[in-house]
Amino acid sequence: MDARERTAWVLEQAAREGFDLCGVARAEAFPELAHLPGWLERGYSGQMQYLHDERRRAPGRVLEGARSVIVCAASYKTPGPLSTEWMARPPDPQQAPRGWISRYAWGTDYHDVLLPRLQRLARALEQQFGPEVRTRAYVDTGPIVERVAAKYAGLGWLGKNTCLIHPRLGSWLFLGTILTTLELEPTCPPEQPPPDLCGSCRRCLDACPTGALVAPYVMDARRCIAYLTIEHRGSIPEEFRPAIGPMVFGCDICQDVCPWNRKAPARGWPEFAPRRLADFSADGPAPETLLAPPLEWLAALTEDDYRQAFRRSPVKRAKYRGLVRNACIALGNAARRAAPRVRQRVARLLERLAASEDPLIAEHARWALGQLDASQQAEAVPARPEAAQAAAAAGGGGSAGSV
Ligand code: SF4
Ligand code: SF4
Repeated sequence: MDARERTAWVLEQAAREGFDLCGVARAEAFPELAHLPGWLERGYSGQMQYLHDERRRAPGRVLEGARSVIVCAASYKTPGPLSTEWMARPPDPQQAPRGWISRYAWGTDYHDVLLPRLQRLARALEQQFGPEVRTRAYVDTGPIVERVAAKYAGLGWLGKNTCLIHPRLGSWLFLGTILTTLELEPTCPPEQPPPDLCGSCRRCLDACPTGALVAPYVMDARRCIAYLTIEHRGSIPEEFRPAIGPMVFGCDICQDVCPWNRKAPARGWPEFAPRRLADFSADGPAPETLLAPPLEWLAALTEDDYRQAFRRSPVKRAKYRGLVRNACIALGNAARRAAPRVRQRVARLLERLAASEDPLIAEHARWALGQLDASQQAEAVPARPEAAQAAAAAGGGGSAGSV
């Protein structure tokens, strides 16, 4: 087989494994990787130390003699509302406030779903083309900038929201890579990757609630809700807490507003559909699925409940205390608009969490209680002039001087 036939064989195997897309790029230092040191120097990576791994600057540094990168993609778009649609619905103040879990985390951990498939493909490659062929398979776990490799494999362009966008499937894509010493023909000319179709659009930049997209194509992760609620350990800076709104794990806004995602079909991988929790026996009733679960349920989870509910789920990346921390923030934001009865119930839960032995949880619960207090006071303010007007109309006093 020549390089072209070998590539055709790889694409066929990837399709058999169920991947929605597959492409091949040469294993070289892609032009975008030259921006990496400057981005890191500006501190935009926050606490994500693994991004400083120098091997990320060229695939050849990860596997000696690497000649090709195979990039496979699986769409995680399953039926269900966009977060922007869900948040636009007026909340029922009588109902328990709910939080938003990012779409990619509704189902089973994508590492568990995709890595075995990718490893099977890598083993098949070695068997087919000889023992001297070496491979390394990664799903978001190696020092590879997958989305850049995906661009040069012809799978899409890098949008202003920094995601890889495929013209048909949008950006709802999990990416996996196989680095190999085997020479394969690239699926797109290296000097001519897919064109950038963002054009003059800037919806993602305008919609980002925290200004994390500091310029087109540039994200300051320290401001990003996805980073803050998943990767960031410790206290979340107060300046971002109100903007986090109901989001307890990740944020989909800059993808939800992207016109390319609105047209993207749901591919229907059952593994990525919202996890059913019907059999889960927590203290109190568990929600049916992880699609917008009640915040009180999340905040009240014990560590054991948490482990059970989020076994083999991407949500475990936030860790137990991180998720409860996030739920406190979301409760402080969401419960402000709740009916007094609901608000009182939430306040009791937050008071319990404010007495937690974990200072991180306790501090975020206190902050949330402060939000409830502030909203109660704000509601009380307009009541006073109205009361004064009513008193005046009735011929009463009501001025400070009359007291
Ligand atoms: Fe902004 Fe959310 Fe996108 Fe992060 S994920 S850049 S916070 S819109
Ligand atoms: Fe590009 Fe517009 Fe999508 Fe942002 S919202 S990634 S600018 S097409």
